Order: sequence, then C-alpha cells, then structure tokens
Amino acid sequence: MFATACNYFKNTGEIMMQKNNSESKSRAAFERAARVIAGGVNSPVRAYRSVGVQPPFIERGNGAKIYDIDGNAYIDYVCSWGALIAGHGHPAVIEAVRKAAEKGTSFGAPTLGEVELAEKIAGAYRSIDKIRMVSSGTEAVMSAVRLARGRTGKDLIVKMEGCYHGHSDGMLVSAGSGLAESSLASSAGVPEQIASATVVIPYNDVAAARAVFGMHIDKIAAVIVEPVAANMGVIPPADGYLQELRNLCDRNNAVLIFDEVITGFRLARGGAQEVYGVEADITCLGKIIGGGLPAAAFGGSTEIMDELAPDGPVYQAGTLSGNPVAVAAANATVDLLCGNGVYEGLEASAGLLEEGLSAAACKAGVPVRINRAGSLLSVFFTERPVRNFAEAKSADIKQFKRYFSQMLSHGIYPAPSAFEAMFVSIAHSREDIERTIEAGERSFEAINAVSG
Ligand code: PMP
Repeated sequence: MFATACNYFKNTGEIMMQKNNSESKSRAAFERAARVIAGGVNSPVRAYRSVGVQPPFIERGNGAKIYDIDGNAYIDYVCSWGALIAGHGHPAVIEAVRKAAEKGTSFGAPTLGEVELAEKIAGAYRSIDKIRMVSSGTEAVMSAVRLARGRTGKDLIVKMEGCYHGHSDGMLVSAGSGLAESSLASSAGVPEQIASATVVIPYNDVAAARAVFGMHIDKIAAVIVEPVAANMGVIPPADGYLQELRNLCDRNNAVLIFDEVITGFRLARGGAQEVYGVEADITCLGKIIGGGLPAAAFGGSTEIMDELAPDGPVYQAGTLSGNPVAVAAANATVDLLCGNGVYEGLEASAGLLEEGLSAAACKAGVPVRINRAGSLLSVFFTERPVRNFAEAKSADIKQFKRYFSQMLSHGIYPAPSAFEAMFVSIAHSREDIERTIEAGERSFEAINAVSG
C-alpha cells in the first residue's frame, strides 16, 4: 500500500518537547554502559548510531507508552521490535507471567503450556502440523535452514537482499557482483565457505528468482524470505511474487521458508500466509509468540518436522526452549489476539496513522512514501515507490535522521533507523495516533525549514 493522499490533518493539542540534553541521566547511563557493555548496548541498533542521537534509557512501559529515566514519556512505535502487539504490561500477560514464575522459572522438561501453545500455532497456520520452540528468531531461522538442508540433502540457500533473518553465519551475507553469484560475508568472522553457501538475489524480483534456479540446478535446498519485508523498511510483496517462489520451490524440490518472525500473528492470526494465500514448507516465528519474553519457534508439516531429532537425523536442541514463563506470556498474548475485531482494530489504527502522516508530509511539502502492510509501516523520504532494497537505500537518509530527532523530541518513539518498521499495537488509542500525526506535522515542517 503506497499512500500519497494529502487530505487529512487534525490538531489535537499540545505536545511536550522532550529533554535529551547533555546533562540527562540517559547520557550518563550510556557512558557508564559503554565501559562494561560492548558499544554500550546488547544489540547494535539500540546505540542509535545511524540517527546520531543519544539513546534514552527506558525505565518502564505502560500500554502504548514508555518512560525514560529522565522522566520523558514517548508513544512507542518500536514495541520491543514488534514483540509487544498487546502493548507494554498488558494485565493478562503480566498475570500469566507472574503465575508461571511462582511455579518455577525453568525445568528443562516438558510442560503443558508448551503443548497448548503448539496447538494454538498449528490451529492458526494451515501449513503447520508441528512446531519446535527455540529462544530467538535467529535460532528459529538457523534451525529451519538446517532442517531444509537435512531434508533435501542439498546445501545452497537463496536469500533476498535487504531481508534480515537473524545473525547466524549463513544469513550474514550480501550480494556478490553478479546476479546469482557467490555472496560476500556482511560481517567479519563469517568464513567465506559459509557465505558462499547462500546466494543473494533482489526482493520482489521474479526474473532473478527464476534465474537463480536456472544457474544452480539441483543445488538449492531452500529459499528463505520475509513474506512482507520489514527490515529494509516495510515492503509488501508484489502481486504473485510469493506464489512464484512457491512454484519454483515445488518444481525444484526446494523448501520454501517464510521468516514470519515479524509478520506471524501480526498481519493476521495465520500471518502473511493467511493474508497472501501462499503456504510455506517451514515457517519461522518469534517476537509476538514470546509475548515480550525470549521465545520463538519454527514449524511445518509432520513429514518435515519428523526429520528432527529425536525422531529424525537433524539435530536441534535448547536448554531454555519452551521456557514456562515465556510460554505463559506467549499463550496469554495469542489468546488476546483471538478476540473479535483485533486485526480490524490494528488495521484501522495503522491506516489512520498512514493517512495522517502522509497528509502532514504533503502539507509541509516534504516528499515521502509510506509503505504499509497491516500494523507495520515505514516512512521513506522519496517521491518514488519503494519495492526492493536498492529503492529503499535510495531514499534520503539525512531527512530520516532529522525526522527521527524531531519525532523523539515531540514524545514519539519511532525505530532509530530508516530501515526498520513502525509497529502499531492494540494499546495505541485514537488519541495516541492523533498526537503522533500532530508530532509528524511539526517534524515535517521543521525538516522543510532546514532543507528548504
Ligand atoms: N527474522 C526476522 C524477520 C527478524 O526481523 C528478526 C529480528 N528482528 C530475526 C529473524 C531475528 O530474531 P532475533 O532478534 O529474535 O534473533
């Protein structure tokens, strides 16, 4: 969905400017953190390097809002990178976590909660009979890739440029110089032999997908894709794209892996597969199915999943896999998503936000493209459509930096990178959205004043 409408704006009152100055507690905390934590953070994007701002240290969250240690409040559109579709501290999730923790935090043995969660996931996804739980999206993908290789007896993995699938060695690769040629490691420490077992092609490019199968006959174990790309900004699949990947995998005895770590239970209960009507062989889930705690999973048909140990030859294991506290948060979150009108509500809130931000940019004379799929959206500073990574990279990153600082100063917390999505949760009220649009108008005006 590409919004360009210029017909919406509503003034909803005062927005407080935030403090993030040289004397802030967050600045001192970041300096302290940098002495004992690599880069001062436990995941690079949190350091805010690409937006050139000091990261606020967060003290607590409630509903759609988070509060930093300097007392600033923000309407949160990161929501733990999409995990918190129910918002911060939803009472049902907190109660489930509390009750589970009181009974014990980990057993490393089977519990009923895991079975309930697996039944719910298998009930939501037609393509899933069985799952295996892990503790992060990275682990889910790493295990899915091994399973695909074990099942097909082939090695090569096809990945799309700009899609992110966690930080396992084989997924930290970028495209080589020619189409469908060997890939290059995108991180130090990834051996070339491992990088060369992944081929990178552009997202949304059917011809490139056909070509890669033509060049590597009988070598491709799996194609992995984010069915809606959400790590190069949000980019929905072109019409027919996912179906073509499905057909190519079927014709070439390759496994189709949908990485639904972001889209699973977000676009619909059955994720992108339900929305676009294309089924994967293996689905990776994370974020929402951890309910804000570390849990993820991968799943598929009985036939494929029975290749895993102890039934089959593909080894996979985890000390904290299916952790009872994480599973309790997951069950409570998935139950909340079964209510009537949940996804319609998310669609309405995100639609309003898309329309309002688009109109605010238009009013201020700042060219933007807003891409949206359900409750995922992103603002690209460009006049042109954004359908792949090359187009996403051609948007104006300097403008995004200005927009980000402005929004933050107006009490809005978007992702601190031009290539990350905004996540709308069920806790975002109409008033939150309207305040965000108002902050957007001020931010776009300020950007225009600088660049104009
Ligand atoms: N796949 C996708 C699509 C993701 O967005 C992410 C994380 N943002 C991952 C995998 C990796 O998940 P994690 O950070 O839990 O390892």
